[in-house]
Amino acid sequence: MARGEIVIIEMNCLGCGYCERFCQRGGIAMTGDKFSAMGFPLPSFVNPDKCNACGNCEAMCPHFAIEVYKYADAGAITAAATPA
Ligand code: SF4
Ligand code: SF4
Repeated sequence: MARGEIVIIEMNCLGCGYCERFCQRGGIAMTGDKFSAMGFPLPSFVNPDKCNACGNCEAMCPHFAIEVYKYADAGAITAAATPA
């Protein structure tokens, strides 16, 4: 189950591939089929279900082109909303 998601800020991305290299869960890949307006290859979020929102890709991106958002604990929200 996905624990979060990432947003690629395409105008910042220079296609270096660090995000793919440093994602240890195979969440991101340089698939070679997406390009920015400047012509740089863009990464894709290919395996959202494997993402644990660790933040490595955001931390390793030298161009501030990734933001990672961690989902709130769905279990806790459900429990709080369920009448006793
Ligand atoms: S590390 Fe950043 S600049 Fe490099 S490909 Fe990934 S998103 Fe683009
Ligand atoms: S947050 Fe972590 S697991 Fe998710 S895509 Fe980025 S590096 Fe991979």
